[in-house]
Amino acid sequence: MDSLRKTICVKVGKVGIGGKNPVRIQSMADTSTEDERATVKQLLELYRAGSELLRITVNTPKAAETVPKIKKNLIKEGCDVPLIGDFHYNGHILLKDYPECAEALDKYRINPGNTGKKDARTEHFLQICEIAKHYDRPIRIGVNSGSVDDDLLQSLRIKNQRSKKKKNERDIILEGMLKSAVFSLEKAVDCGIKENKIILSCKTTEPAELVYLYRELAKKCSQPLHLGLTEAGGGIKGIVWSTSAIAVLLSEGIGETIRVSLTPSPDSNRTEEVYVAKEILESLNLRRFSPKIISCPGCGRTSSNLYRKLAKEIENFVNENSLKWTAERKGVEKLKIAVMGCIVNGIGEGKSADIGISLPGSGENPVSVIFEKGKQVATVKGDLKILLSEMKKRIDNFIVREYHLIGGQNGSESSRKTQRT
Ligand code: SF4
Repeated sequence: MDSLRKTICVKVGKVGIGGKNPVRIQSMADTSTEDERATVKQLLELYRAGSELLRITVNTPKAAETVPKIKKNLIKEGCDVPLIGDFHYNGHILLKDYPECAEALDKYRINPGNTGKKDARTEHFLQICEIAKHYDRPIRIGVNSGSVDDDLLQSLRIKNQRSKKKKNERDIILEGMLKSAVFSLEKAVDCGIKENKIILSCKTTEPAELVYLYRELAKKCSQPLHLGLTEAGGGIKGIVWSTSAIAVLLSEGIGETIRVSLTPSPDSNRTEEVYVAKEILESLNLRRFSPKIISCPGCGRTSSNLYRKLAKEIENFVNENSLKWTAERKGVEKLKIAVMGCIVNGIGEGKSADIGISLPGSGENPVSVIFEKGKQVATVKGDLKILLSEMKKRIDNFIVREYHLIGGQNGSESSRKTQRT
């Protein structure tokens, strides 16, 4: 899908954001940045899951002192994606007092709502802009509904009291967010930051508000926009709420980087947010990261649980091998495999996938039909073990036959440690 909105390209480290670049995935660590080891470990996990931009909070002198060490360790591990510092309240002090931190970071995120009080707010904001200019670093002006410039909000409330057409408090906050983003953008440009060094975001907790804010923001600037529902929550709610807002905007061509801000459950891995972001981009056909399984939900026509088990086993097989395949074979991430429960949709989906299997539904001839590139190539009779073995063999052969080795490498040469594509 071509982007409907044309944006300036901002270079963050080696990564281009906006312009003709694909939508990028960002994630953020939740370790204390003072804890070098834990932060490096988590950042590497996020990187290996596929995060293309890594953000850490920089909130204390010790954290600022640790940033260059974190960066060094990441590079040592082969992780050269941009490292972004998230600043609130004291960014102007930390970036000034710790020049090695300012140098080690590839981008500074500034929240214009909390750089200071009254006049100091703009003063400190501009001090960070000056440092960004000095080190030639891009900035993200990141407005958040939970920390909007309170002086600005107060002036909007007073204006609202005098107005005949009253707005509710939530609408005042949204208005304040947009004004804060645009005002800060103008201030940054006035102080000499180039337009191709600025990314904007306006995050809120409500999907409908997020869609409204970004549609408005997209009309007001040509900067790349960083999308994400803030404090989305966890589990199904967090995933669905984030996806519903991000997908609407991306499908309108709005959004050049995304972050899915999930609250991980205590026992789950931080990388979930990266996997969800990948699925969002894949579902909208904006990026491809690994082969895909298309499987039907099953219904009264399915004759047993076999289709569920087979779909799951094939999914496991793909997940286990996708790292190796994508590292070795050009374009293999576009592979589509269909696992269907009966002939109703099994034949159509089986034929339109690269490899498809249609299991026998109730009342059908008890054989499974296998398709490759739209043609029926085999019929197989048997249990899960037989069907799985046949499908694995066919998938392996298909990949070797249809996807060339990258750079003419022998498959065994590739030693990528990550699932990145
Ligand atoms: S493909 Fe067949 S079994 Fe699967 S949902 Fe459709 S009708 Fe039901």
